[in-house]
Amino acid sequence: MIYLDHNASTPMLDVVKDEVSRSWALFGNPSGENSASLRAADEVESARERISSLLGINHQDLIFTSGSTEAIAIAVYGVVIGAPVQRNEILVSKIEHKAVLATCYAAAEVSGKRVIEIPVTPSGEIDVNFLLENVSEKTAIVCCMSANNETGVIQSTNEILKIAKTFDVPLFCDTTQSIGKDPDFALENLGSMISVVSGHKIYGPKGAGLALIPRSLQGKMFKILSGGGQERGFRGGTLNVSGILGLAKALDVSLSTIADFDLEMTRMKMEFMHALESAVQVPMHLNAKSAKTLNNTLSLRFEGISAEDLLVNFREVVASRASACTTGREEPSHVLLAMGLTTKEAEQSIRFSFGRGCSLDDIPVAVRDVSDAVDRVLLLSR
Ligand code: PLP
Repeated sequence: MIYLDHNASTPMLDVVKDEVSRSWALFGNPSGENSASLRAADEVESARERISSLLGINHQDLIFTSGSTEAIAIAVYGVVIGAPVQRNEILVSKIEHKAVLATCYAAAEVSGKRVIEIPVTPSGEIDVNFLLENVSEKTAIVCCMSANNETGVIQSTNEILKIAKTFDVPLFCDTTQSIGKDPDFALENLGSMISVVSGHKIYGPKGAGLALIPRSLQGKMFKILSGGGQERGFRGGTLNVSGILGLAKALDVSLSTIADFDLEMTRMKMEFMHALESAVQVPMHLNAKSAKTLNNTLSLRFEGISAEDLLVNFREVVASRASACTTGREEPSHVLLAMGLTTKEAEQSIRFSFGRGCSLDDIPVAVRDVSDAVDRVLLLSR
């Protein structure tokens, strides 16, 4: 198998597995008071300190969660429900992950606010002018991701943050695909916007993640998961000690090796794309052609060939049609449609996402596998 679906999930690194194995001995409840609890709590707090220092944030800004979706819910419901009544508009980009879009609509429904969707350019960049024209003293929250999971398009987070700050509106930035992957992502922005991390996107365990919420905003937010009051009241429930330790290790490795990782991803992506272009029998198109994208992500379409047919004809390569969360459903990618692709073009699009689970040696085999699959689909359609 040549796994090219790292934006959906990543294999755990061996050092992370070792850390998770070590954690099984820490079975005490970290919220308790006995010695077993204190051992677990010490490890959790030291992981919190390590992560805060890696990200350059205050440890009080960090909430452990089960992943990005939960962190998004804590953030979006929290800000929207906590916002004053006159701030009754939610501005969200059309290309957000469903975890953000669906949460915005649900939060709008429970709070009586309305959603305004921000369009994108044909190259997949959030339309900053639309944001500028629509943000106002009526805005409760702006939700704009830092890099798109399907196309890899990197957004103008600095500019978006500046606009949100001008109107004193909290920015929720879905950083799931950027932190630990994009070497140019500005970690210094984490102190002034709300962001998230998901362990399984950065070679850590599933079921572990972070909501990064500056203390200046915490007091204004509604707390949706109060429970036992853990995590400053934002995420009640027993802490996932193994997940937290694994996540800290994964983040450490991802950030400390990010420059080499990025170089490797760039080489793999470029070699794959160029070799594929000359190998396949049909015209191949790159989605989000003129935008800056994550160096591990490639969104391609093969003219006249449905992605669904192509994917089942791969023998070695594992890739996906769109985001993992929409795969299996009938509708084409909302991200590609928002960029102006036709339904047919969206249905022909495949996302290849490279990662630490593959190497340059895999590229010729992957290219051959994809071009053979194209040949098979063409043959069957004649
Ligand atoms: N946001 C983005 C951009 C994603 O790519 C994903 C996962 O695909 C999520 C949120 C949801 O992450 P999790 O699986 O940690 O809930």
